[in-house]
Amino acid sequence: MTNNPFSGPSQRTPTLLSRRAALKAGATLTAAVALDLNLLAAPAKRTVVVWSEGTANIDPGSKGIYPNDINSAIAEGLKPLEAEGWEIVKAGLNDPEQGISDELLNRTDVLIWWGHKRHGDVKDSLVDKIEKRVKSDGMGFIGTHSCHFAKPYKRLMGTACSWREYVADGTSAMIIVKEPNHPICKGVTSFKLPQIERYGEPFAVPTPESVPLDGLYTRPDGKTEPGRMGMCWTIGKGKVFYFTPGHETYNDYHRPEVRRIFVNAVQWAAPAK
Ligand code: ZN
Repeated sequence: MTNNPFSGPSQRTPTLLSRRAALKAGATLTAAVALDLNLLAAPAKRTVVVWSEGTANIDPGSKGIYPNDINSAIAEGLKPLEAEGWEIVKAGLNDPEQGISDELLNRTDVLIWWGHKRHGDVKDSLVDKIEKRVKSDGMGFIGTHSCHFAKPYKRLMGTACSWREYVADGTSAMIIVKEPNHPICKGVTSFKLPQIERYGEPFAVPTPESVPLDGLYTRPDGKTEPGRMGMCWTIGKGKVFYFTPGHETYNDYHRPEVRRIFVNAVQWAAPAK
């Protein structure tokens, strides 16, 4: 005996049963159509480009920490995004077209930038294109550490972007989750970096719309000093995030907490599709 209302003589109220069956069939059809629409609406592959200038091994103290430069370490930490349909592209200053062809830039959802010693080598024409992609098209931009003086970051901020001081003297820091409900803090709890290059406030940037990550430096003499560690802006149509740690002689980009922050930041900065 089945429950199929059309199958047997025991059927006493065929009209009602037919209606139920029709409703059920309709519901199934609706679900099928919705499934098909979901398939049709599957998001196109998203692209995050991780760019660095290829100097992370120039400082003798950095040898061995980033043997394949910082873009490789950050890209490795983004691997969880691949399961969500993200393509992760590494790019560098020494690559053709300084690593970012028009074709690549035009399909980039989020651009991550690390530079330190070769900011001046980045072509202004490339900076123009990056600025347009962020402001007009909504591409996300993530800058980290010494990228504060990088041309694209300075262009987007429109200010001097200087910190008061830059000191690598054995200072440590607590990275403090200040806005636990912010998407960039998802799954992140406050953590300590045993060594950090201290970037002293004030930081000459526009007032951020949010500061999901705060920080407290502890100097070798035990004195403490606050410093912002993760800041967010909306510039034109695009979202911008800056992460303060990331000096080339420390292993920040291999740390699970930092990697989680970058995964979150890419998702946060990506334009809606
Ligand atoms: Zn540094």
